[in-house]
Amino acid sequence: MANSWEPYFPYHIEHIVAKQHGGSDDPPNLAFACHHCNRIKGPNLSSIDPDSGLITSLFHPRLEHWADHFAREGSRLRGLTATGRTTVYLLQMNAPHRMELRDLNSVDF
Ligand SMILES: [Zn+2]
Repeated sequence: MANSWEPYFPYHIEHIVAKQHGGSDDPPNLAFACHHCNRIKGPNLSSIDPDSGLITSLFHPRLEHWADHFAREGSRLRGLTATGRTTVYLLQMNAPHRMELRDLNSVDF
């Protein structure tokens, strides 16, 4: 669900491993996340890979490298691995309003 004010409050402090799963408030367990991703991720650590149907861990921004798991194709993000596909799927990273924001933030230098 898009919020018209979302672009003005782009980042929340997100617990990578939710406190209910034993995650701490220490910096290695914290990451910036947009409102949309933080709300949808909730306490999830995994989801279902849409290609294989297998339970798969979500991308861990402190332990993994973005470019190993994701590619940007225009305004669309593509998961390159099971982790990338699962994260794109769970976080609804290609929802129309997310792709629209990517288009707005694309600048040619
Ligand atoms: Zn996000």
